[in-house]
Formats: sequence, C-alpha cells, structure tokens
Amino acid sequence: MAVTEQTTESSAHESEQIAVENPATGEVIAHVPVLGGDEIAAMAARGRAVQPAWNALGFEGRARVLKRMQKWMTDNAERVIRVVMSETGKAYEDAQLADWSYGVAAFGFWAKNAEPYLADEKVSTASPFVKGKKLVLRYEPLGLIGVIGPWNYPVTNSFGDCIPALAAGNSVILKPSEITPLTSQVLLEGLLECGMPEGVLQVATGYGETGAALVEQVDMIMFTGSTATGKKIMAKAAETLTPVSLELGGKDPMIVLADADVDRAANLAVMYGMFNGGQTCISVERVYVEEPIYDEFVAKVTEKARSLRQGLPGDAGTIDVGSMTFPPQVDIVERHVEDAKAKGARVLVGGHRGGADRPGNWFEPTVLVDVDHTMECMTEETFGPTLPIMKVADAEEAIRLANDSPYGLAASVFSKDVAKGEAVARRIQAGAVCVNDALINYLALELPMGGAKASGMGTRHGKGGIRKFCQHQSILVTRFALKDEPQMYPYKPKITKGLQKAIKFMYGRGKR
Ligand code: NAD
Repeated sequence: MAVTEQTTESSAHESEQIAVENPATGEVIAHVPVLGGDEIAAMAARGRAVQPAWNALGFEGRARVLKRMQKWMTDNAERVIRVVMSETGKAYEDAQLADWSYGVAAFGFWAKNAEPYLADEKVSTASPFVKGKKLVLRYEPLGLIGVIGPWNYPVTNSFGDCIPALAAGNSVILKPSEITPLTSQVLLEGLLECGMPEGVLQVATGYGETGAALVEQVDMIMFTGSTATGKKIMAKAAETLTPVSLELGGKDPMIVLADADVDRAANLAVMYGMFNGGQTCISVERVYVEEPIYDEFVAKVTEKARSLRQGLPGDAGTIDVGSMTFPPQVDIVERHVEDAKAKGARVLVGGHRGGADRPGNWFEPTVLVDVDHTMECMTEETFGPTLPIMKVADAEEAIRLANDSPYGLAASVFSKDVAKGEAVARRIQAGAVCVNDALINYLALELPMGGAKASGMGTRHGKGGIRKFCQHQSILVTRFALKDEPQMYPYKPKITKGLQKAIKFMYGRGKR
C-alpha cells in the first residue's frame, strides 16, 4: 500500500453533476456525479477489501471473466460503438476500429498472456559467490491501481489499461475523462455481467480534482492525457512515492523520402492525420517531404482531403470525419491554423471551424503548406484534423526537423527501400516508428508502446504493459548450505587475499 497522508481535500465540484454532451450535436445525453475525496477514499477501501479474493482466483479464474467479457463485447458491438460515438462525436468506423475492436482484442490478449508474462522467471548468474543458488524473479500484483484517462478513445486509452491491471490480480479505480465517462460505465456493467466481483473495478466520475484525489489513494497510477497534466500527476505522486506510468502528448512526424510510394504515403497521411478527427495521440501531426516528390505528394493529399465527407456520425460508411470531442480543442486548432496563416502558410483545404449555425464542435479537415518551425502547427500538439506539409532538401533535414520537438511519441517514414526507411526510423527520437505505415503498431498488443522525451514514461502493451502493475520480487534460495563459509566472520587475511587473487584471475586477464 502506498504511504499516504490523510486527505481532507474534497472536490469543489462535490455533489455536482457533469452534463455529458454529444459533441456532434451539443445535446446533453446523460448526467454523471462528480466524486469528491471522501468518496474516492471509500472506493479505495472497497477496492482493497475485494482485491485478495480476486487475486486468489488465479490467472485461470480471472481469464475466464475476461474471456466472457470478450464475448460480451462482440455480442454488444452496436451498443458499445454507439455509446462511444455519442460521447465523442466520432465516425462509426473510428469507434469500431480504434475503440471497440481494440477492446475485443485486448480482453482476449490479456486473458491469454497475463500468465506467461507474469510467470516466475528462473535467473542464472555469472557471480561465483551466488553460483548454485536458486534465483527467481516473480511478480505480485501491487494491490489497487488508479487509471486516469483522456477523452479521445474511451475504450482504448481509458479502459484499455484497466484490463492488464485486472488480469494481473489488482483491483482498479478508473477515472475516465469528464468529457467521456459513459463508455466506462457501460463496460463496467459488462464486466459485472461476466462475473467480475463487485468492487474489483470501480468507475470514479469527476473532473481533475477527482483524479488528484485518486492519486492519493492508490498503489500505482496509470495516466494517459496531456503532458501538462502528466507533470502535475507525477509531482503529486512523488509526495507518496507512488509509481506512475505516463502516456502523454505527441507531435508525430511523417517523413516521405523521394523514393516513397507517393500514393500510399499520401493516402496514409490523410488517413492518419484525419482519423478520429485528428484526435489521436499518435496522429500524423506534421509531414516532411523530400523536394523531388513534394508537388506530387501535396497534389495527392489535397485531392484526397477534399473528398472527405465530414458530418453527423451515423451508420457505417455515411461519413469519414466526425466532430471534435472537446470544445476547447477547436479553439486550439483554429489558433494553430491562424498562426500559420499569419506567418505565411497557405491553406489548400479547409481551414475553418464549424459555422455558428451548426451546433456541436467542428473543424474542417485542413491541409497547410509553406509551413515551418516558427509556426505552432509544426511545434505544438494540435490534436485536430490538420495536416501541415513541409518541403525538405533531403533525409538529413527531415530527421533534424522530426527530432526538433520536445515530444517523442511516434513517427513514420516512407521509402520503397525498406532498409533505408528502417535506418531513418532508428534515428528518430520516438517511442515507436512505422516504416511505410503509421499508427497501426498500436494494434500489435505484443509490441511495447510508450513515449520518449515529453511524451511519457513507461510503456503499455507487451510484457512491460502488465509487469508495471506488479511488485517485482527477487528470491534467492540457498539449497545446499554449509554451516560456515570462508568469507564469513571473522575475516581472515589469507582468505581475503586468496579471494582477491581469484577475482583478479577471473576478471583481470583481458587487455585494457
Ligand atoms: P488531460 O490531461 O486534460 O486530461 C486527462 C485526464 O486527467 C482527465 O480524466 C482529467 O480529468 C484528468 N486530470 C486533469 N487534471 C488532473 C489532475 N490535476 N490530477 C489528476 N487527474 C487530472 O488530457 P485530455 O485533454 O483528456 O486528452 C488529450 C491529451 O491526451 C493529448 O495531449 C493526447 O496526446 C494525450 N493522449 C496520449 C495518449 C498516449 O498514449 N500517449 C493517448 C491518448 C491521449
């Protein structure tokens, strides 16, 4: 249990309700309570009380619940997709691919892999002092995990991290974004139907203060959101030495080399610049194109971006780009576009927020050229449907500019010469880089994903994505024990010198 000081801080919003809006229409679709510090403390006590029994179910028992939930997700596909759409304003396909299908896969993945990833590991050693002893590394659930999530992917980035934490045997309190709390409530309902005991997962709705109260109560915080909030959470967690894992903002570059398949690069730039309304932490946020193919690339991107259908999310295939989710984000996108225009950029497609006659939060899919690093659109996270494209002289300039950022979340490189593409990828300061692709590395749950620089700390997915929810415990067992060993008290000069000789013999024979 984390060392906590008693909190008396209670939310300024306590006993308030959050009116959850459909951001595409501006309609209020639900109300959820704002939980304060005392309520979070009570939830924490409950979570801790039920955790030992959940852990005692073992991997198999927990996997049964998670596998049932995988089936529940497929049986309830339409319900889950629709609730995600209703609170985010995203297109049906965006909700299906990046929320629902991720969730379906993740429940099965962690049901299957928790046990092998957390199985005891036998360790062998080169140390002559420890040879012959049994060395084991094992993983024990930390206890109570706090997950705090953003609004852009209510299943994937909020609920997604609860799954490995639960599979490891922890109980979890999830604080979803105040903008999108409904999906988490629906998924919690599903898990309870699938046999998860009450209290093992709890959803704590509220604003930032609720999140801050959660940090005080848990054994570990898994946070996904902005870099600014990540810093606050890390500072607060430092007070109780509570470990944190942070998945933060990004400004992901795409590099298009002169020998790239221009059609593919242009298609993917538009797809992954505009996907989910550009509100993806690993969106293509800026593009660097080598001079010989720049005009062709821009022409193809422009044509594709112009053809995008933006509108009210509805049935499958009716629109390509939905609304924006978070009203203040529209202001940020507009500010970046206006700043770029004022400094000499040209808008080839879009460039405007939704009209005053239209309710909801809208910004047109936008393509910008003649951009450079004096502009906010190239240096700050835009998190909207914009694609600024910059001409570069060569790969070296592209790499230099790609790395000219405080962020380092993900990146992509396009070249028909895959060895060259990979060589460039290895020089990008980012937690993940795709060659001739973008974004979909996130769907490989075996592959760790985490930010470099100001984009985060720690990883999700893969072994590390579940081991971080555990106490790592090393065990040494001396099986064939002597009553007395030469190095034991009292120290004897002969033994000490003999040991030194032996160590010099073993390690001191190489060249300097
Ligand atoms: P945000 O930082 O504003 O909020 C995230 C969560 O933190 C919300 O639930 C919020 O209520 C809570 N919060 C706010 N202040 C808090 C505090 N002081 N203590 C505890 N909790 C607090 O982020 P957002 O606007 O919801 O999401 C967008 C951001 O998330 C973007 O920067 C995006 O890049 C990032 N993001 C990163 C990843 C990733 O995997 N790296 C994934 C998705 C989104």
